[in-house]
Amino acid sequence: MALKQFKSESKRLLDLMINSIYTHHEIFLRELISNASDAIDKLYYHALQGGDTGLNRSDFAITLQADKDARTLTISDNGCGMTKEELDNNLGVIANSGSLKFKNENEKQEDIDIIGQFGVGFYSAFMVSDDVTVKSRAYGSDEAYCWHSKGAEGYSITSCKKEDGHGTTIILHLKDDTEDEKFSEYLDQYRLQSLVKKYSDYIRYPIRMMMHKSRLKDGTGKDGKEPEWETVDEMETLNSMVPLWHKKKNEVTDEEYDNFYREKFMDWQAPLKVIRTSTEGTATYDALLFIPSQAPMDYYSRDFEKGLQLYASGVLIMEKCPDLLPDCFSFVKGVVDSQDLSLNISREMLQHDRQLKLIESRLEKKIKSELASMLQNDREKYETFYKNFGLQLKFGVYADYGAKKELLQDLLMFVSSHEDKLTTLGEYVSRMKEDQKDIYYACGDSLTHIQQLPQTELLRDKGYEILYLTDNVDEFALRMLGSYQEKTFKNISSDDLDLGTEEEKKETEQKVEENKDLLNFMKDSLDGKVKAVVLSQRLKSHPVCISTEGAVTLEMEKVLNAMPGNEKVTAQRVLEINVNHPIFRRLQSLYEGDKAKVKEYTQLLYTQAMLIEGFPVEDPVAYTNKICELMVGE
Ligand code: ADP
Repeated sequence: MALKQFKSESKRLLDLMINSIYTHHEIFLRELISNASDAIDKLYYHALQGGDTGLNRSDFAITLQADKDARTLTISDNGCGMTKEELDNNLGVIANSGSLKFKNENEKQEDIDIIGQFGVGFYSAFMVSDDVTVKSRAYGSDEAYCWHSKGAEGYSITSCKKEDGHGTTIILHLKDDTEDEKFSEYLDQYRLQSLVKKYSDYIRYPIRMMMHKSRLKDGTGKDGKEPEWETVDEMETLNSMVPLWHKKKNEVTDEEYDNFYREKFMDWQAPLKVIRTSTEGTATYDALLFIPSQAPMDYYSRDFEKGLQLYASGVLIMEKCPDLLPDCFSFVKGVVDSQDLSLNISREMLQHDRQLKLIESRLEKKIKSELASMLQNDREKYETFYKNFGLQLKFGVYADYGAKKELLQDLLMFVSSHEDKLTTLGEYVSRMKEDQKDIYYACGDSLTHIQQLPQTELLRDKGYEILYLTDNVDEFALRMLGSYQEKTFKNISSDDLDLGTEEEKKETEQKVEENKDLLNFMKDSLDGKVKAVVLSQRLKSHPVCISTEGAVTLEMEKVLNAMPGNEKVTAQRVLEINVNHPIFRRLQSLYEGDKAKVKEYTQLLYTQAMLIEGFPVEDPVAYTNKICELMVGE
């Protein structure tokens, strides 16, 4: 019989599974049990929605059968089953193929990452077995089909008998034991029992174990007869079937949360934070939420879908319900179980459900308060969180015209000139100097870049702290906030910092008056690139810097112009020159005799100032030629 080929990505994944060095081979069991449970969920939920009362929850079960003689482990369910096409589509192609990207195939580390990050599900069977048979009969169908594969060479689908009704039976022939690994341990009832307890305890359908009757009786099972099966009495049902979110808080161990989270949300790391919350009254629900330790690979991409699993009185009604989570907390994973929702509710109705909105706003408050207390009580953990998801909080402040800014402002952090570490806005304000009116920030691609900006000189001199903004969204977020504790946010490059004393201002005014012609000439030399050339009040040792007038800063110009399709914007540039720098005296004296030089130097100074701001030189060749000319000497 012709073997069908696996789709190429599936084949690679399969190869990985077969040759896996992954240490947690045991997870194959939880994957298969979880598939079985999903299949029952599907059938049960559909039956309920369709008003089919022929099915009872108590009829459903998942069975494990271990046959030491045949060296097989069988996992059966009486869920929805699969048609011939479904067998082909579901098991011939991996579900997640779109998001599966193999990077460095040769690196062993990748092995673990792929297995951990994507629910490899069914294929994990190949980590422990060399021959896999899946017999399945779809609910409502009389025909059954058998999918069979020995690994990467391919698979076959034939029609077969399946007398015990709808559902799926998976028969794993275990690999030979090696020195390093005893695959036969997966035939041991106690080992299986403990694996079920460890990974699948909360599964809401009974998981039962069957053993050879003959073996149970005489301990050998080698009587040559057809195997007889019997449920192992003392452990009829291996799992407690109580979902974690219904157990009392003190009855659930961290390890249980951990396993539950990893299995359900396909993460290979333990969650950073577990949040349990329940309420009664206007909205009755239990929620079990998790904040991941690391942002998923696709988190900041369009592919990412937020959402929580939604249960109505213990029955899964939606895998990923986006309406339960505000965008700013889209990184949260978890489960919400509510008695208020009807099982028959459709997705469309769900979107407008008042109950759901209530739950969302409660969860939003809860997540916020948990994060705030983490920030207060476990700074290190919070900083880990913030490094992964801080960007999302900043987007959150900016999004929807600042609708969530009050909620989020105290959760924000920026690196600041105070010890070059992350600081909250509250901490910044508490350290403000007595004479300091505003909150200052500076933008740039990197911390080093910002630290070297000439505009920071005077502020540093005065001992004012500066927030360093390195993410594109940062300045937009602060602009959206406008102020914090009544202190206005000010970009250190804006032209209205107003830092000098009255006396200093008078002095500058006088100098401006004296140098009016020179400054105007310099401005004209720049052919409209700047709105003005002014004498700077903030430079100490640098000769020039660029500041901006009006609402758009240089950073915003960069960010906005990098977005596709936006109309181009230009910040109103002002060239500031340091009146105490020797270069200014040189310009003054040149202005008397050699105006052409002043023009050239002004252009050079402007280019330098823009370079420092991180802008490219418009005409690099002309610029370097000029520098060379200067080096050679006039
Ligand atoms: P995932 O569970 O992440 O979708 P799997 O590779 O584990 O990926 O399974 C692929 C698909 O095969 C499932 O989505 C499901 O449709 C189907 N499937 C797997 N196991 C069963 C089962 N026991 N009963 C019915 N369908 C199943």
